[in-house]
Amino acid sequence: MPKITVDKNKCKGCLLCISVCPKGLIVVDKELNSLGANPVKFKTGGECIGCAFCALICPDCCIEVYK
Ligand code: SF4
Ligand code: SF4
Repeated sequence: MPKITVDKNKCKGCLLCISVCPKGLIVVDKELNSLGANPVKFKTGGECIGCAFCALICPDCCIEVYK
């Protein structure tokens, strides 16, 4: 099953990735990161299709996709 990782301390919490995930698998992490932002995290247990929309839209290259 494909999955993603998020570089938590690089994420500025712009939420663009959440808006493009067709499976709703990216959610806001309540814990602040070192930038003082709420980063996003991957919701496990869903069905990631490895489309990489999230990685492509991220302006800070925080997301890596594993197929
Ligand atoms: S690769 Fe596609 S399905 Fe998987 S988390 Fe990213 S946008 Fe969602
Ligand atoms: S698009 Fe990138 S910077 Fe924006 S919330 Fe998603 S992972 Fe963070």
